[in-house]
Amino acid sequence: MSLSEQNHGVATTAQQETAQQETAQQEYDVVIIGAGAAGLMCAIEAGKRGRRVLVLEHAEKIGKKILISGGGRCNFTNINATPRNYLSENPHFCKSALARYTPHDFLALVEKHNIPYHEKKLGQLFCDNSSRDIVQMLERECEDAKVQIRINTQVQAVFRNEGRENFSLQLSGRERINAQSVVIATGGLSIPKMGATDFGHRIAAQFGLPCTAMKPALVPFTFASTQQESAFGEISGVAFDAYATCNDAEFRENVLFTHRGMSGPAILQISSYWNTNDAITLNAAPHLDFAALWEENRTSPIILKNVLSQHLPKRFVEVFCQEYASEIASTPFSNLSRKHYDALAHTLTAWNLVPSGTEGYVKAEVTAGGISTDALSSKTMEAKTVRGLYFIGEVVDVTGWLGGYNFQWAWASGVAAGQVA
Ligand SMILES: Cc1cc2nc3c(=O)[nH]c(=O)nc-3n(C[C@H](O)[C@H](O)[C@H](O)COP(=O)(O)OP(=O)(O)OC[C@H]3O[C@@H](n4cnc5c(N)ncnc54)[C@H](O)[C@@H]3O)c2cc1C
Repeated sequence: MSLSEQNHGVATTAQQETAQQETAQQEYDVVIIGAGAAGLMCAIEAGKRGRRVLVLEHAEKIGKKILISGGGRCNFTNINATPRNYLSENPHFCKSALARYTPHDFLALVEKHNIPYHEKKLGQLFCDNSSRDIVQMLERECEDAKVQIRINTQVQAVFRNEGRENFSLQLSGRERINAQSVVIATGGLSIPKMGATDFGHRIAAQFGLPCTAMKPALVPFTFASTQQESAFGEISGVAFDAYATCNDAEFRENVLFTHRGMSGPAILQISSYWNTNDAITLNAAPHLDFAALWEENRTSPIILKNVLSQHLPKRFVEVFCQEYASEIASTPFSNLSRKHYDALAHTLTAWNLVPSGTEGYVKAEVTAGGISTDALSSKTMEAKTVRGLYFIGEVVDVTGWLGGYNFQWAWASGVAAGQVA
C-alpha cells in the first residue's frame, strides 16, 4: 500500500482487519520517523515522561547530518539565537518553542556530558573534538529514557485508525506498528545522498496539510555567463570580507569565489533570501574609506590596481579591474580622474550580480519552506486537523540562518513535541 493509496490517511475497515490478521502488532505511545537532531531530541523528551517511544530511521546510522555538520565539529547552537534569525511565512511561529528551549538549555546538556566546546564567532558554539560527541550524547540520553531506535527501517505507510484514535504504520516485511502519536522528523531535502527524502512532505499531503514553496537555502550561487564564470573560476579560492544584500536582508562576512560561482558565509546567508532572477549586491570593500584613499594617493605614481591591492586580495583586484575598469587599472593614481575613481568605488561597493542559479539540494545546507506553519500548533507542533500527528525540525517551514540556528530549531521543536506527544 503506497502513501498515495491512502484516503487522507484514514484506514478503511478492510485495511484495519488486514492489519489485525497480520503478525502480532507492536504497540507504542510515540513513534518518531527520522533519527536526526529533532527526532532524537523529541524521543528523549517523550521517553523521560515515561512514554514508550520508538524511533524509526531508514539510514544505516543515526544523526548522519549531525556527524557532517560544522565541518565535522557540529555548530550545535548559537547562544544569540532569537526568532529574528529564522525565515518562515509566519515569522512568529518559532517564538514559543525557541523561548521554552533555549540555547542555554542545550548547552546545559552538553556540559552535563562533559563535551568540550568553544565559541568560534558570533555566538556559534562548536565541539572542540568531533560532532560524534553530540550524537553519542543523544544516544546516551535515549538509552536513559528507554527509547528504542531502529535503523535500516523503511516506513511504507502511515494511516490513522479513527475509531481507535491511533495510527498504524506499515513497515517493510509486512510488519505493523501501532502508536498513539506519530512524529515526523524526516528533515529537509538537502543532501539526498545522506538520506534526505520528501517522506515528511508526502505524509503532510496525504493528511491534507499544506506545504509552502521549497528551495535550497544556505547554498552557493552559480553564474552562467561564460565571461563571469571564467573570471570567477580564475580566482577560485580567493575570499574577501563583504556585505551581501538581497531583498532587504544584509550580512557581513566572507565571500569566497568558487569554480562555478560564489560561496562563503555571506553568500550562504543571503541565498536564503534570494529568488530566481533577483540581483544580489556586494559591498566588496566595506572597510575602505574611498575619500580618504583618494586624498592619501592623489599624488602617487603607483598604478590604481596596485593601490587597491594594498587593501584587497591581489588576485581579486586583478580580475575585478579586468572586468570593470580595464581602461584605468594601470593608470598611475596621480593621473586618475575623480570621476573614474568614484565610478570604480561605486562598482566595488555596490556590485550588482545576478546569479544564474544555486548549486541546488546537492550542496544546500538546508531546505527553505516546508510544512506550512498554518497547519501546526506553535506550542506543540501537532497538526491542527490530525490529532496525534506532529511535524518537527527542518521539515517544517522554519529555516535558520547559518551559525547553529538550524540545530537550535531542531532541538527546540523536538522538545516542544516531546513534551506532549
Ligand atoms: C553539510 C551540512 C552541514 C550543516 N551544519 C550545520 C551546523 O553546523 N549547524 C546547524 O545548526 N545546522 C547545520 N546544518 C543543518 C542541520 O543539519 C539541519 O537543519 C538539521 O539536521 C535538521 O534536523 P532534522 O532532525 O529536522 O533533520 P535531519 O537531521 O536531516 O534528520 C532527518 C532524519 O530523518 C531520516 N529520514 C529521512 N527520510 C526518512 C524516511 N522516509 N524514513 C525514515 N527516516 C527518514 C534521515 O535519514 C535523517 O536521519 C548542516 C547541514 C548540512 C547539510
